[in-house]
Amino acid sequence: MNMQRVLENLRLQYADLDRVAKKAISQFKVSCGKGCFACCYQMTALNTLEGLLIADHVCRQENWLETAQKLRDASFAYVKPGLDRAEHFRTRTPCVFLKDGNCSIYEIRPAACRFLYVTTPAELCDPARDSDVGAVNLTELEAHVFKLAEMSLHPIASAPLPLMVLYCMLITALPHQEKMLNQLTNGLPDPITWMNTILPMMKMDVHPETRDAMIDAIKKVGIQ
Ligand code: SF4
Repeated sequence: MNMQRVLENLRLQYADLDRVAKKAISQFKVSCGKGCFACCYQMTALNTLEGLLIADHVCRQENWLETAQKLRDASFAYVKPGLDRAEHFRTRTPCVFLKDGNCSIYEIRPAACRFLYVTTPAELCDPARDSDVGAVNLTELEAHVFKLAEMSLHPIASAPLPLMVLYCMLITALPHQEKMLNQLTNGLPDPITWMNTILPMMKMDVHPETRDAMIDAIKKVGIQ
């Protein structure tokens, strides 16, 4: 299967799952609405397939280099050793794709953003409030996206958005973009190394064979 077909499958799955999510959240009083973007200060993670969809889009834009540079800067902020997610949230560092209070990649935003619906008052999402926030549990929908990624790519990884998208740009790059993108990833851990640093801190483990396979995969994603 070629990459464009794989990415199209993800778009179709997002559309299907959006319909399921809409039905599910109709039973709740959801506070999220247009112009509310507190969750865009979070350290969002996504899988390789989702990263490829965004990277493919970015690589086709005239301002791809400007975006790649922003992704690089954001990646350095995200991969600081021992960085605490809550601490990062309080720094109010917006996602690279947040433009004038709107998501500039709304149609292809990852599952972590797509299926997050808050049920507590919107003001409690303010990073400065440090409040407990209630959300509709749609993790099953995120799991479907992960499953599709597992079925489409061999094998896959999950990492913070800027790091993953920047590396995925290397995979989807047009010929004239490769050299610059290689330079921009200089000094950054690849998403797999990041995973291996962060997972033990989260008391999780990656089997060494899986790790090696994932490193190969991130350099040259195998489409199944
Ligand atoms: S991808 Fe879009 S919705 Fe997700 S954090 Fe970034 S700006 Fe917000």
